[in-house]
Amino acid sequence: MSIPFLQESVQFLKGVGPRRSDVLKQAGVTSVNDLLSYYPRRYLDRTSVVRIAEMKSGSDPVTVVGTVVAAGVIPGRRQKRFEAIIEDEPGRRLKCVWFQGVSWVSRVIEKGHRLALHGKPAQYGGSMSFSHPDFDRLDEDGPSIDTGRIISLYAGSASLQQSGLTSRAFRKIIYQLIKERGTDLQENLPSRLVQNLGLLDGRVARRAVHFPKNNEELQAARYRLKFEELFFFQMLLAKTKLVREDVPGVVMPSGGALVSKFVSEVLPFTLTNAQKTALLEIGQDLSSGHQMNRLLQGDVGSGKTVVAVAAALTAIDSGYQVAFMAPTEILSEQHYRSLSALLKPLQIPVALLTGSTPAEQRRSVLAALENGTLPIVVGTHAIIQGKVHFKRLGFSVVDEQHRFGVMQRATLFEKGERPHMLLMTATPIPRSLALTLYGDLDVSVMRERPPGRQPIHTKMVREKERDAVYAQMDEAIASGRQCYVVYPLVEESEKLDLKDAVSGHEQVSSRFSDVSVELVHGRMKAAEKEEAMARFVSGEASILVSTTVIEVGVDVPNATFMLIEHAERFGLSQLHQLRGRIGRGEHASTCMLMAEYKQSEESRLRLRTMEKTNDGFQISEVDMEIRGAGDFFGTRQSGLPAFRIADLLNDQHILVKAREAAFGLLEQDPDLNDGDNRAMKDYFEHFVQKKGVRLSRIG
Ligand code: ADP
Ligand code: MG
Repeated sequence: MSIPFLQESVQFLKGVGPRRSDVLKQAGVTSVNDLLSYYPRRYLDRTSVVRIAEMKSGSDPVTVVGTVVAAGVIPGRRQKRFEAIIEDEPGRRLKCVWFQGVSWVSRVIEKGHRLALHGKPAQYGGSMSFSHPDFDRLDEDGPSIDTGRIISLYAGSASLQQSGLTSRAFRKIIYQLIKERGTDLQENLPSRLVQNLGLLDGRVARRAVHFPKNNEELQAARYRLKFEELFFFQMLLAKTKLVREDVPGVVMPSGGALVSKFVSEVLPFTLTNAQKTALLEIGQDLSSGHQMNRLLQGDVGSGKTVVAVAAALTAIDSGYQVAFMAPTEILSEQHYRSLSALLKPLQIPVALLTGSTPAEQRRSVLAALENGTLPIVVGTHAIIQGKVHFKRLGFSVVDEQHRFGVMQRATLFEKGERPHMLLMTATPIPRSLALTLYGDLDVSVMRERPPGRQPIHTKMVREKERDAVYAQMDEAIASGRQCYVVYPLVEESEKLDLKDAVSGHEQVSSRFSDVSVELVHGRMKAAEKEEAMARFVSGEASILVSTTVIEVGVDVPNATFMLIEHAERFGLSQLHQLRGRIGRGEHASTCMLMAEYKQSEESRLRLRTMEKTNDGFQISEVDMEIRGAGDFFGTRQSGLPAFRIADLLNDQHILVKAREAAFGLLEQDPDLNDGDNRAMKDYFEHFVQKKGVRLSRIG
């Protein structure tokens, strides 16, 4: 059988042994399956190799194959270094230099070795050179690229290489494995699927990804394995979704009295089409008899709150209670204010529950929730998760859900009461990430913004233009508007940035001495923060200096000017989120991005993108291109699975196919009992679902 084989420990494979298996373990490889899916990071063939004679200084990285004609440690005045001279044609030389790891390189590179080297060409004193190139020793005995072979190169961290796990060693171990045990491999996808989609056979693909016969076979193998990886992950999501859909939910009919009154009498505007569609979709879920798990995705200012409130009224119409959760106290308070205003005409009481709610008030809120007299509570997630007992909780709204720890989201789903869940996020994310991260949820997307919104004019400015920027702020304030001044808060250097915001506040206060300037940052006491925010919301303060705590959800329509300091230090999505704080009212808005002269290519692209567009979805795609899928969410743990071969940035078309296939298959055969689905079920249960428990909990 295939499964036991794939589960075998690598320790007992030929050429591995206990010492190497320890090293492999560090690379996350313990089983045969891990080893087979330790995919090459790069391939070498005749077409990918550049001749030394053709190298161009300053070009993108290239690969060179040649023989070491001289090598040695050079003492140097300040620092010793290792140099190796490579020749690929007589007299054509490339100098390779290492300043770090000198003693190690000097042990592994010797005169006479044939090496493949990958690096950025640079010209120094007449000779072409690489500094710290990636390198692999090619087998003298094994297949050579000169005979047209494609040679796989494996990710070699220095520590792996130092322990002897070079690409060459990987090739040997995997070669042995496939040679001796290749017949133990099995196709693990249903044959119908393989045929219909024209996929390469799984057994062939597992060999060919390491030892391709030619480029065509390699591409087919990679496609097949990417598909498989994405397919199994989508199976996991499909399963999770199916299980959730089995959970019975209370039936809440649409069109109740409160909702109708809210839409026709309370709201001073008509709903946008996007809002209507989202409400319709939510209404169908609420009346379906199954628990709703829906994500409402809408760019900042698209009007999600109103949709959530209308949906909450459907629950209240049916006699249920509602919990409305936000990630921070500031946001909770703000939601509390806007919900109070929206619900007052309907005479529906709302309460706020956060860490700073005084004990006595807290007790009475808890009592009212328990005896059912309080229909709706707004608060921070942690508080509502605590010892709160609802009489009849039927509907939970979670705003800015991406801001909650990934684990917290999992516990939301596991809450005893099983209320209908509406998750909201103003973070537009690329479609491939959405399908992965939220692939187990139903999704409503609102791309339209309420009518009458003025566009935001965005411009990158330099320090020398500061006076002009301040003059524009004077103007905005003189016509009654308000301004934000934002400082970055990068997690690693929190203290430093805090100082920025605090001294920035002093600077702004003295420049704008005849208006009131408030300061808000993450280290302030909640009460202080609230007071400062309140003075800005009420219009008493004209300028709010802050760190990124205002990033999400803060709604002051009268604020029309934003100055972002050190804009080059922000990520693109974050800049977009910040900018979403302005352009929320009837007046035209301006966003100034104060940036330094010296900027990386990437930060220039970020700022230019900000100048060019206000569309969050477009911005998110550019952001993913810049950062790669894995880093899209920055340092914060994202819950994205670490794919081994698939790449969410470039493989979106494969992802879509894999998703269709997985959902389609489970729909037809939910228990995977068809004969043709058995092998897949085995593989899924052993290698995906077990890990998946963790993934589905966090993702
Ligand atoms: P977000 O999606 O960012 O949470 P909000 O729900 O805070 O957006 O709405 C932003 C602003 O737009 C609020 O001031 C809200 O009252 C207003 N708004 C919402 N829907 C509409 C609409 N259909 N027409 C006009 N204004 C609207
Ligand atoms: Mg909002």
